[in-house]
Amino acid sequence: MFDLIVRNANLPDGRQGIDIGLAGGKITAIEKSLPASAGQKIDATGRLVSPPLCDPHFHMDATLSLGLPRMNTSGTLLEGIALWGELRPLLTKEALVERALRYCDLAVSQGLLFIRSHVDTSDPRLVTAEALIEVRERVAPYIKLQLVAFPQDGYYRAADGETSLQRALDMGLDIVGGIPHFERTMDEGRRSLEALCRIAADRGLPVDIHCDETDDPLSRHIETLTAETVRFGLQGRVAGSHLTSMHSMDNYYVSKLIPLMAEAEINVIANPLINIMLQGRHDTYPKRRGMTRVPELMRAGLNVSLGQDCTMDPWYSMGSGDMLEVGHMAIHVAQMGGIEDKKKIFDALTINSAKTMGLEGYGLEVGCNADLIILQAADIIEALRLKPTRLAVIKSGKVLSKSAPRIGELFLDGRPASIDPGRDYVPAG
Ligand SMILES: [Zn+2]
Repeated sequence: MFDLIVRNANLPDGRQGIDIGLAGGKITAIEKSLPASAGQKIDATGRLVSPPLCDPHFHMDATLSLGLPRMNTSGTLLEGIALWGELRPLLTKEALVERALRYCDLAVSQGLLFIRSHVDTSDPRLVTAEALIEVRERVAPYIKLQLVAFPQDGYYRAADGETSLQRALDMGLDIVGGIPHFERTMDEGRRSLEALCRIAADRGLPVDIHCDETDDPLSRHIETLTAETVRFGLQGRVAGSHLTSMHSMDNYYVSKLIPLMAEAEINVIANPLINIMLQGRHDTYPKRRGMTRVPELMRAGLNVSLGQDCTMDPWYSMGSGDMLEVGHMAIHVAQMGGIEDKKKIFDALTINSAKTMGLEGYGLEVGCNADLIILQAADIIEALRLKPTRLAVIKSGKVLSKSAPRIGELFLDGRPASIDPGRDYVPAG
């Protein structure tokens, strides 16, 4: 007896026509033609059923603030930071909570149920931390939200950077953040990483650093982060977010760096949407691509995941809470168009992110949590191509969200009356 059975599902590993039985908040059966009854049944009709999507890099304190107090006219990272600096003194807890909850509604409808958000701790009022802690509690029944104490204006560069970060961790933020390339000097950046890794080791917390989000090939803070990770015994608990300077680094240097990163078990988080928008801004032509070396890092055995970073905020006017859009962009920027490449990109949106975030019970196997999404596509390759409608989003065996499939009605003589992009346009070969 099950609480819910999802019948006729296609699984991410390629199995088709599978039934999934959910009971007591867990997946308790995955097999063909499950001979059992259930309180509730959903027919997946041969569509893809996947674990929910994860976003390991987001800024929920800034999301949906686009246009406040004005638009970013240059579209650059630095104007975005300046603009956020103008908005920050005007932020109220109520407005932050309201925008974050609205974003979480959107995320649920997109099948995005695990989010790691950086929380700017630069303003000593810490209204951002206060608001996001409240949001973390309020969304806990449906979204697992992790919060990073993030000194946006610099741990040393901002007047209260050090104390505000410590106070935010005392309030209950989960992870230690940093931004070494934004400190005044390379040496201050290096020292900030030493201090932040020490804080993480002392407090028993993970680390997630905005690291080398620059086109400067000599921005090598990832080297320091790697060394401090080993020194403080933080292997597997440290994430390097962005790492865009690696794109521009000397190949010989990178050939030394990547094995060191693998040894330190650094979790790499690339943010292709925002990086392709913001990087290479000082180039004329050719313009560099703004993403770290995703396929090379994957080949070296590093755990690489993909983040969204922003949705409608001072840095990025686009975004829709859709992690498949992030994967779609990654495939283009990294030129990972092969079938095996696309499978790796889908992993980067799901199981790799779950590992980065240290999620327990994540996955589509018997014994995992009863968290699933049903998509209007036949398989993961098609999901990445189509960014399809999330037909159902299930958490702990309960349906959180449903959307009607996108079906186009046609009024053309001699042509079909309707088309379903997830069924009618599958690969010919
Ligand atoms: Zn970020």
